Amino acid sequence: MKAAVANTFDSILKIEDIAKPKIEPHQILVKIHACGVCHTDLHACHGDWPVKPTLPLIPGHEGVGEVVEVGSAVTHIKNGDRVGIPWLYSACGHCEYCLSGRESLCLSQENAGYSVNGGYAEYCAAHADYVVKVPEGLNYVDAAPLFCAGVTTYKALKVSEAKPGDWVAIFGIGGLGHLAVQYAIAMGLRVVAVDTGNAKRELAMSLGAEYYLDFKTDDIVADIISKTSGVHASVCTAVSKVGFRQSYDVVRRGGKCVLVGLPPEDMPLPIFNTVLNGVSVVGSIVGTRKDLEECLEFVARGKVKAIIEEKKLEDINEIFADMEKGEITGRIVVSI
Ligand code: NAD
Ligand code: ZN
Ligand code: ZN
Repeated sequence: MKAAVANTFDSILKIEDIAKPKIEPHQILVKIHACGVCHTDLHACHGDWPVKPTLPLIPGHEGVGEVVEVGSAVTHIKNGDRVGIPWLYSACGHCEYCLSGRESLCLSQENAGYSVNGGYAEYCAAHADYVVKVPEGLNYVDAAPLFCAGVTTYKALKVSEAKPGDWVAIFGIGGLGHLAVQYAIAMGLRVVAVDTGNAKRELAMSLGAEYYLDFKTDDIVADIISKTSGVHASVCTAVSKVGFRQSYDVVRRGGKCVLVGLPPEDMPLPIFNTVLNGVSVVGSIVGTRKDLEECLEFVARGKVKAIIEEKKLEDINEIFADMEKGEITGRIVVSI
């Protein structure tokens, strides 16, 4: 089968012809039709994080397609089902996190396109219990970005505890951020968006943001505070240390700063302001299978729609280069 493979940590993938994966009794084999390209894939292929993936690796955790083979122990999925394989490739199912509806914190989890091979390939093996079905009427290309960018931002907004009418600042209007704006609007929140350039301005405003600020030219913190008196919550998807600090500084007293982006840097926090202002700073990692089903429902009901440019798997190195420069508007989905 055809696959894009990382053999070194230089962000260059090679299109290779490799053996189709064999499945275990609890697994299914998915013929991948489309896979979104997440910035996490770029971090993976660059070896950015403290825990590095084992090479060679097939990245991709927004792979969707059709089930073509079912393991002997699988009873609830059949050939022909349309499913997606998210970042949470599997979890143990019996630890305190799995049992308390927080499976994305499971210490024994596997991650698609990171600790196991993912969706940048014609076929991908998956754990039958951890795939999520693509709702009827939603095509593979439109569904793919929901399996990471969608569920992650939907969950981050839930974690923010912002309520209808509250202000939320979304930092980074990329693959994740442009969906965050839409989920926020669908939840009745008021949105300030932060990124750079006119393409992202037009995108954010067309999706319902009330203000857009450019981190290269505007005084982000002062402007957001003057427009909103400080936001009730911020969700930072920016791959930038400066963006993280600003996303903290714009939160009003008692508000929440939700960290989502994963630049390989630290974020210094002022103790005095955090204590006196009663601000919460919280990390949010993807979402559970239930969160994923819920976030797909918004899309199936026409409330949210990923803005997509479709490309080929062979274009992956060019896509990574554009992503590195922040030049992608919306999400790139590779068709396979
Ligand atoms: P992306 O490249 O599509 O978007 C990132 C955006 O941030 C770009 O539009 C860029 O212009 C913008 N940006 C850069 N500096 C900024 C700043 N100072 N202020 C505001 N915006 C700024 O990336 P993506 O696929 O949306 O992923 C974003 C980050 O989220 C990555 O680090 C990725 O690894 C991480 N991620 C986290 C989770 C999670 O579960 N927490 C899930 C998926 C991705
Ligand atoms: Zn577990
Ligand atoms: Zn992702």
